[in-house]
Amino acid sequence: MKTKMILVAAPSGAGKSSFLDRIIKEVPQLEDVITYTTRNMRINETQGNPYHFLTHEEFDSKINSGFFVEWAKVHSNFYGTSLNSLQDAWLRNKVVIMDLDIQGVDTFKNKFPEIIKTIFILPPSIEELRRRVTLRDAGLTKDLDLRMKNAEIEMKRATEYDFRVINDDFETSYLKFKKIVDELLRLK
Ligand code: 5GP
Repeated sequence: MKTKMILVAAPSGAGKSSFLDRIIKEVPQLEDVITYTTRNMRINETQGNPYHFLTHEEFDSKINSGFFVEWAKVHSNFYGTSLNSLQDAWLRNKVVIMDLDIQGVDTFKNKFPEIIKTIFILPPSIEELRRRVTLRDAGLTKDLDLRMKNAEIEMKRATEYDFRVINDDFETSYLKFKKIVDELLRLK
């Protein structure tokens, strides 16, 4: 069966957005879908970039109307993916690449096991992850301890993924990541 979806999981701050932003630019066959969240926008974020930002009420009503193919509570907010956005990309013959938390990956693997491949991005260590997240958010990260605790839980599950990449040096790690994706697309 062809790979139609590549799911990338990593603890928050491990660098997966940088990997995804770059690979989307370099590989036209890939498409990232914009997911939905109830979390507050960070500095430099806008509506639709990198999420559709919703209130809790709006999110709930989308859950109830069956709008989401998957949704999960991550840290202290909700995140969800619409089925339409996937179908739309598939109609245009794109392979969807997206980053999700591990619950989202589990849901998708149950729903579409045959068309999915999974990649886990690992930070070199929890200490380095904490340092990167603090730097990224200028020391203002909400839930930092909760995020680090979740990161440890998530990282224990990395062995269940089809591929793993340790993000120590960005350039080298990115090239490893790209090689994996290229190979998956070649097999498509
Ligand atoms: P952040 O708030 O740091 O952007 O993202 C927090 C986490 O939510 C990340 O692990 C990200 O991959 C995950 N995430 C983003 N969109 C979705 C989604 O639609 N579903 C699920 N399950 N997780 C998501």
